[in-house]
Amino acid sequence: MTDLASRPIVATAELRRVYGEGETAVHALRGVSTAFPAGQFAAIMGPSGSGKSTLMHLLAGLDRPTAGSVVVDGSELANLDDKALTRLRRDRLGFVFQAYNLVPVLTAEENIRLPLTLAGRKPDQEWLDQLIEAVGLGDRLDHRPSELSGGQQQRVAVARALIHRPAVVFADEPTGNLDSHSSDEVLALLRQAADDFGQTVVMVTHDAHAASVADRIVVLNDGQVVHDGHGESTEGVLDLMKAVA
Ligand code: ADP
Ligand code: MG
Repeated sequence: MTDLASRPIVATAELRRVYGEGETAVHALRGVSTAFPAGQFAAIMGPSGSGKSTLMHLLAGLDRPTAGSVVVDGSELANLDDKALTRLRRDRLGFVFQAYNLVPVLTAEENIRLPLTLAGRKPDQEWLDQLIEAVGLGDRLDHRPSELSGGQQQRVAVARALIHRPAVVFADEPTGNLDSHSSDEVLALLRQAADDFGQTVVMVTHDAHAASVADRIVVLNDGQVVHDGHGESTEGVLDLMKAVA
């Protein structure tokens, strides 16, 4: 019997990525096997150069592995051509980056709707209302990004990543540009997405406080998983990072 609840949304097996060749080859990932179940909010941590971005790019189909497999939402990415990969990214994945990447001439609400607008689809009004409520912008919904604080812009970016109900949201240093108060608001929204909407979230961060809101902490070092465990307090995460360093 298939247990849908525990089916991983994202899974890798013996994932490897080598940049360059010969003497100068860089082994950015050296055999990473891991899985992220539905509804989990996972943090990927590790020192600079440990392979976090490489892993995220491979999981999101933005780059191809040297060896090993990535399965996202039931599809083995190696079996998809570039067009199918682009479609998977558009329809099934959500992205949040360190730079909010909002469209400056659109209002906050138009930015949130943008993925559907581009796909020629109408939002489910109930879902849009729920998201707008969660973002908590109130009467600033018709403001342009330049009229919003960094934290507000990033919350709009999170809502934009959720609008098409993706299988997984990938967040790459989503709080990297934010002060601690704004970070907390963005992290609370990601947390709510997992808790209330069952959203699977994979977040790369080197901020121990950001990682402390996750259900699970995966630590990379030198292209390998060196720790994989339950959520931790900020102190707990800092201790883990010290153990790796
Ligand atoms: P992190 O995100 O944890 O800082 P990265 O995944 O960016 O780590 O990098 C892992 C390793 O791969 C580093 O040694 C980095 O210098 C190297 N690397 C990353 N991207 C490239 C690339 N495009 N070409 C060559 N080496 C790269
Ligand atoms: Mg990186």
